[in-house]
Amino acid sequence: MEFARALLRWQRTHGRSDLPWQGTRDPYRVWLSEIMLQQTRVATVLSYYPRFLDRFPDVETLAAAPIESVLQSWAGLGYYARARLAHACAKTVAAEYGGAFPRPAAELARLPGIGRSTAAAIAAFCFDERAAILDANVRRVLARRYAIDGDPAQRAVADALWAVAESLLPGRRDMPRYTQAIMDLGAGICTARKPRCDLCPVQDGCRAYRMGRVEDFPARRKAAPRPVRSAHFLVALRGPHVLVEQRAADGIWGGLLSLPEHPEVRALRRHARSLGAAAPPTPLAPRRHAFTHFTLAFTPHLVRLDPEPRRAPADGALRWLALGEIEGAALPAPVLALLRAVRDDAADAGSGLAGTR
Ligand code: SF4
Repeated sequence: MEFARALLRWQRTHGRSDLPWQGTRDPYRVWLSEIMLQQTRVATVLSYYPRFLDRFPDVETLAAAPIESVLQSWAGLGYYARARLAHACAKTVAAEYGGAFPRPAAELARLPGIGRSTAAAIAAFCFDERAAILDANVRRVLARRYAIDGDPAQRAVADALWAVAESLLPGRRDMPRYTQAIMDLGAGICTARKPRCDLCPVQDGCRAYRMGRVEDFPARRKAAPRPVRSAHFLVALRGPHVLVEQRAADGIWGGLLSLPEHPEVRALRRHARSLGAAAPPTPLAPRRHAFTHFTLAFTPHLVRLDPEPRRAPADGALRWLALGEIEGAALPAPVLALLRAVRDDAADAGSGLAGTR
């Protein structure tokens, strides 16, 4: 209990209390914040969360929305599988639970996109349930304080961490604050690099600290080198419009708008000719984007077509998008960044596009 008591005391004066998803016990709002915060930093989520809630204020609204508009509001947050799972989760809650997130945590964990730790966070914050969270930050805190060696991805190590996490829980009344406290400790004090042990409320009793081996825990997995996949993107402009393609639902950026992608330049040139290009597209500076399991190295190729006629492309997945509308479109962040550069260079050059990088 001393661990929980020390954290609760510390949270009152040092923890975070001004985040927009704090101070609510609405499971929809808490769930949304937890899903957005998976693999995304708080600072980034802060700019998306209120906008998403404006558009989808409750679970029924989200469930009834077409997936395209959900992806559009998610564009820029990355990890788009989360948006599709969130949509599927909202549909399940609306259809099978009458619009109310179920309890206890074990029932929540059956919903699409909600793992054991996320379910526990929702249940602790909204229902005072004594359920332990174990996200990456909490794993790090517990592995250090209790000197739990080994890779947390291994079953036996994960089981040991869950067992410790559950043994430390306070009474129901303190669950929301305790859950926030252990999250805050991992995010701000017991950080992956240069933890601030001198400010830590649970330094007393921390085995890794006592042994002087703080950075040895948790054991690091040997990262396999990330493979690189290359691709060529066609940036076809007709006046102020750019050709975009809706990607298939499966695969990277599923369901989002992107630029027509080709595995090799010859196919890209053929595509440009079919659109009426008089000259081959010009390659721009290559770019890279890191996904979890691979890096995409892509070269954009710019071609400017006669402004008229702007007929709808024969392929139903393709369409012309005004460069002035790219900010509100469901474009993945690296494609949006590229199109911003194209748009800004077009404006600088008086639409001559001479300086596009
Ligand atoms: S003393 Fe240091 S290593 Fe131990 S829990 Fe606190 S911040 Fe983490």
